[in-house]
Amino acid sequence: MQPWICTTCCVEYPAAAEPPATCPICEDERQYVNPTGQSWTSMAEIAATRGIDWRELAPGLVGIGVTPAIGIGQRMLFAGGVLWDCVPLVDDGVVEHLKVAGGVRAMAISHPHFYAAMVSWSDRLGGVPIYLHEDDRAHVMRPSPQIRHWSGETLEVAPGMTLIRCGGHFPGSAVLHWAQGCGGRGALFTGDTIQVAADPHWVSFLRSYPNMIPLPASKVAAIAATVRPYPFEKLFGGWWERVVEADAKAVVERSADRYIRALAG
Ligand SMILES: [Zn+2]
Ligand SMILES: [Zn+2]
Repeated sequence: MQPWICTTCCVEYPAAAEPPATCPICEDERQYVNPTGQSWTSMAEIAATRGIDWRELAPGLVGIGVTPAIGIGQRMLFAGGVLWDCVPLVDDGVVEHLKVAGGVRAMAISHPHFYAAMVSWSDRLGGVPIYLHEDDRAHVMRPSPQIRHWSGETLEVAPGMTLIRCGGHFPGSAVLHWAQGCGGRGALFTGDTIQVAADPHWVSFLRSYPNMIPLPASKVAAIAATVRPYPFEKLFGGWWERVVEADAKAVVERSADRYIRALAG
């Protein structure tokens, strides 16, 4: 028996002889069931056709994705001993690379769409804790004693690596602040809690990206206010090309203002 992985969202489910009847992550209004029907795969099947994409993005920062891309196509980030977000493939090579790069002391994930194979990753990394905000507890499809449901608004999971709960997309949607990033000017890892737009001088905020459901002005203002106390020069969204390269703090402020103006009409 092996864990089952939903082919659309790439979230892993417990090992069982048969796959689950449905994927609640995809059935939620923020995601979608594949129009051809719910289908399932496994990590062994993914490994047969795909590999790990390891990229040094900046001093002290690595990106880890799957190539060719699968599911939502996100990539993870590794900095300051913290593995941020998750993908559905892990292999011996990437585990060894992470050891050489300083070792993983904690995993943390922005929101349920990126939970992927988080428990398999933690297992392969020797059982490192996985920090998830407790407000998203109902969306955990493969429970594990390695999962730590954190509560409140912020949590420092490693020195200078602070989880900040922003809410919006999901009640527990979080970002990770890397204080030492960008030569000490700071960087923010946002998944799609704060989504980098096609024009990377802007970001946006939605309840659902694939189904284009907006957020109310109050939630957008709250997200901007939540990250305001933290300095950050760069902002790394959940995908390779989704990066705000400079002045990211001002980008978040002006994007929130534009969004709220648009809602006001
Ligand atoms: Zn799914
Ligand atoms: Zn999402």
